[in-house]
Amino acid sequence: MTGDFDAVVVGAGMGGMYALYKLREELGMSVRVFEAGSGVGGTWYWNRYPGARCDSESMDYCFSFSPALEQEWEWTERYPTQPEILRYLDHVADRFDLRRDIQFGTRVVEAHYSDNRWAVRTDRGDAVRARYLVTAVGCISAVNLPDIPGVETFAGNAYHTARWPHEGVDFSGQRVGVIGTGSTGIQLIPRVAAQAEQLVVFQRTANFSLPARNRPLDAMEQRAIKATVRERRRLSRESGGGVPLTNPEITPPVSALELTPEERHRVYERGWAIGGGPPFLFAFDDLLKSVEANETAAAFVRAKIRAIVKDSSVAEALTPTDHPIGTKRICLDSDYYETFNRDNVTLVDVRRTPIEEILPHGVRTSAALYELDSLAFATGFDAMTGALFAIDIQGRDGQALRDKWADGPRAYLGLATAGFPNLFIITGPGSPSVLSNMPVSIEQHVDWIADCIAYANERGSEVIEAAADAEDRWVEHVNEIANDTLMPLANSWYVGANVPGKPRVFTPYIGGVGEYRRICDEKAARGYEGFAFSSY
Ligand code: NAP
Repeated sequence: MTGDFDAVVVGAGMGGMYALYKLREELGMSVRVFEAGSGVGGTWYWNRYPGARCDSESMDYCFSFSPALEQEWEWTERYPTQPEILRYLDHVADRFDLRRDIQFGTRVVEAHYSDNRWAVRTDRGDAVRARYLVTAVGCISAVNLPDIPGVETFAGNAYHTARWPHEGVDFSGQRVGVIGTGSTGIQLIPRVAAQAEQLVVFQRTANFSLPARNRPLDAMEQRAIKATVRERRRLSRESGGGVPLTNPEITPPVSALELTPEERHRVYERGWAIGGGPPFLFAFDDLLKSVEANETAAAFVRAKIRAIVKDSSVAEALTPTDHPIGTKRICLDSDYYETFNRDNVTLVDVRRTPIEEILPHGVRTSAALYELDSLAFATGFDAMTGALFAIDIQGRDGQALRDKWADGPRAYLGLATAGFPNLFIITGPGSPSVLSNMPVSIEQHVDWIADCIAYANERGSEVIEAAADAEDRWVEHVNEIANDTLMPLANSWYVGANVPGKPRVFTPYIGGVGEYRRICDEKAARGYEGFAFSSY
C-alpha cells in the first residue's frame, strides 16, 4: 500500500483502537493502523497462555468513552480472562467499525520524519506517509527470551507465554518445565500443574503474590455498578492507580507504623481476604515509601507463604527476601502457593542451582538434569522501550530514537520527545502507564493528543514538537518522585533490570493518574506549555 494519511497508528491494542476511533470519528482524520497480529487486542491477542487474566477488575478494565458500550457489555467474572477481554475488544472493533482502517498481519519496521511527513514502511512492503505518527505498541509487548546456552537445541515443544499457540496446548501426560515466576508464571503454573504429569518450576526470584479472590460477577452487582458508573470513572481518573478504591473496608490513608501490630495485622488480614492488589498495598500510605512500614506488609505475606506451603524448604525458597513488597509488580494468584503442595510439582531455585544449559531433552542445572517434553518461557518483556526500538524511528536530521534514548527514555509528559515532531506515544515512558489501570491511562492520553491536534489545527499549525528544556525538566521530575519511593530498589523490569545491558532507569511516572492528568490539563490550558507549534 502507498498513500497519504493524516495519521498512522502503530498497533491495534486498546490504545490503537481508541486512537483510531477518536481521530477518525471526532477529528475527521484519515487514519491507517498497522497491526502485526491477525486481529485486534494487543496484549490480549498475544498472551493466550492458560490462566491469563487481568489484575484489574472487569468493571474497570474497559473503555469509558461510550456510555452505551459501557451499559451493554456484560462481564462474567470479577477479573476478566484473556478470552473474555478479547471478545470484548472484538465487539468494540465491530461496533465502531474499526477494522476497515486496520491492516493486520503487518509490522511497521521504519518511520522516518522527512519533508514534514512521517514516512512509514512495513515488513509487507507498504510505504505510506502521514502528518502524525501515533505509537500504540504496548509497554510490555516485546518478548524477552533468555539467552541460556543451548536454548535453540530443545527438541520438545517450547513456548513463550506471549506467543502462545491460538489453538491452545494440551500438556496431559507430559513433563513440563516453566521458567519464570512473575505475574505470568504465577498465573500459568497452577493451570499447568493441574494438567501435566510432572511440572518443574525454575524460579530465579521469589515473588510476592496476593490472592486474587476471583469470583463470578452476578447480574445484580453488575447492574448496581453500571447505575453509578460515571462516579466510578471519576474516582478512577482522580485516583493513583486508575482504579476506584470504593471498598469501604479499606482504611483511610495512615502510616502502617501508626497502628499497633495487632491492628495492623487485622488490616492486612482484611486486604488478604478481599483479594487483589489495592486493598492490601494501599491499606497504608507509606508501604511504598518506608522500608520499615513495607517490612510489616512483607512479613505478613511471608508468614502466609510459610503457612500455606507444607514443605518448609520449598516454602523458604518461595519466600521473597530480596526486594520490598510491591517494588516488583505485585502478582495476583489463584492457588499459586498451594500448587507447590502437589506431588507432581518440583521447585528449582536457580539462584542456588543455576541453569547451565538447555539440552534437546531437558534442562540441566548445576545440581541435576530435568528431563522435559515441553518448556514454557514466562520470562517477560523488554518493557517500555523494546517495542519502540524494534521500529527504526528517526526524527529530525535522521536522529534515531534508539540513539536519543540510549541512556534511558526521554519523553515530555511521556507523550512526545524533542526532535521527533508530530510523534505521539500512547502510555509512553514517563507517563503512569504500567503503574495504572491501562484503559484509564490510554483514554486520557488519546483524548489529550486529539485535543492537542485540534488546538494546532485551530491555530493553523502543522507541526507540534516537545521542547527540549520542558522534556529535561519532566524527566528530572519523573526520576525525582520515583527516588522518593522504594520502587527503584528492586531489580524489576520497571528499571530494565531484566534485560542485560539496558540502562537502569525507573521508567514510569509514579505520581498517580489523577495528579498526572491535572498536570497534562494544566499544560493544555496554558497553550500546551512545553510544546512548540509551527507551520511548514
Ligand atoms: P516478568 O514479571 O518480567 O517475570 C519474568 C520472570 O522470568 C521472572 O521471574 C524472571 O526472574 C524470570 N526470568 C527472566 N529471565 C530469566 C532467566 N534467564 N532465567 C531464569 N528466570 C528468568 O514478566 P511477566 O510475568 O510476563 O509479567 C510482566 C508484566 O506483565 C507484569 O509485571 C504485569 O505488569 C503484566 N502482566 C499482568 C498480568 C495481569 O494483569 N494479571 C498477568 C501477566 C503479566 P527475575 O525476577 O529474577 O528477573
